[in-house]
Amino acid sequence: MRGDADILLKGGHVIDPAQGIDGLADVAVKDGKISAVSADAGSAKETIDVTGKLVIPGMIDTHAHVFQHIGGPFGLNADMVGVQSGVTTLVDQGGPSSMTFAGFRHYIVEPAKTNVLAFVSAYVVGGLEGHYYTELYSPDGVDVRATCKVIDANRDLAKGIKAHAEIGGFARWGMTVMEMAKEISRNSGLPLYIHLGQLWPMPEGGEDLVDPDTIIPQVVDLMTEGDVLAHPFTRHPGGFVDTQGNLHAMVRVALDKGIKVDVGHGSHFSFDMARKVLDAGVIPNTLGADMHGYNTKVPDPDSIKEEDHLFTGEVKFSMTYAMTELMALGIPLVDVVAMATSNCAMMLDMVGEIGSMRPGMVADVSVLGDERGKWVLRDNSGEQVVTDRYLRPDFCLRAGVRYDADAIILPQLEAAA
Ligand SMILES: [Zn+2]
Repeated sequence: MRGDADILLKGGHVIDPAQGIDGLADVAVKDGKISAVSADAGSAKETIDVTGKLVIPGMIDTHAHVFQHIGGPFGLNADMVGVQSGVTTLVDQGGPSSMTFAGFRHYIVEPAKTNVLAFVSAYVVGGLEGHYYTELYSPDGVDVRATCKVIDANRDLAKGIKAHAEIGGFARWGMTVMEMAKEISRNSGLPLYIHLGQLWPMPEGGEDLVDPDTIIPQVVDLMTEGDVLAHPFTRHPGGFVDTQGNLHAMVRVALDKGIKVDVGHGSHFSFDMARKVLDAGVIPNTLGADMHGYNTKVPDPDSIKEEDHLFTGEVKFSMTYAMTELMALGIPLVDVVAMATSNCAMMLDMVGEIGSMRPGMVADVSVLGDERGKWVLRDNSGEQVVTDRYLRPDFCLRAGVRYDADAIILPQLEAAA
């Protein structure tokens, strides 16, 4: 293969957790596939000098919302969150459903340059309008048979089931919807991904109906190996940190059962909660940026119809911003990379397809700037943390094609005084 590669990424710091690689190496690409990763991978038609940069497997965002134009401004443009942000694979969490999956494939997946997959909504209405209309998410809004049928017809894209275990739903319907979601998961042989933390408002007088600390035990009891709990760092009641401010005892039971943890950053990232969870020894498996139209304001006033009840403010983050935050919290770089690559492939049961740069695999590669300096990071509650290391997407290769990281939503970090 020497000398006849199409693209050579030369002199970068390669981290590929699945192959145990962490050091200087070249990455060669031919015919859209990785042809070599080695100290000297020869020459190519196009050589790109990536000295001083990180070269990692194409990043996989396990929690995206990219069902754009369908049901309000919740869904972002797939390529803006994807290849234009250095991310090669997106997993839409619960946007498409049994009623809308064909549209998702036709209007989102097929035109996207990014590899777009989905965890199918357990509810027939899916994630329309960001789950705004609570009453659509009752047990009457779940059709186990129809959803299993749609999953079966779309195995190439459908990689799991999405549902919400949260206090507003529990106050109305208890565990019924969760049980139906698990039935879809069991019948289809796909993992169940559970959102923790409040989503729907409480019904009138509902505060007395549900003790938030009783939600996780019931959900964990239902879940099995390979299922996923999301939003461990949320400040909302019913999350990993109980009402006493400690790690909920059931989290360890969940980990012992082989249940995985996805950060699901979004509006659910608190440094304070993250420290409590990490200090208790719980390290999430995957990252999941959870960007959507209500927490990521696209800076084009004409493209969004702003309504007061929809937007939570000018929160700006990204996959690499979330990786930077996890490093600021003390998680080693190689582990943070695994949370955005190899661990995601495991969650999707796609090891050998994506999440690594093994020769022969599709040439999905993310190249990141590894900047040193002093920057301020801010979470949803306003806490500020100063970091001295900042990961910034530079470009990516998706199936061997180069895309520069020029998305207008990429955050600009603020220099610390
Ligand atoms: Zn989400």
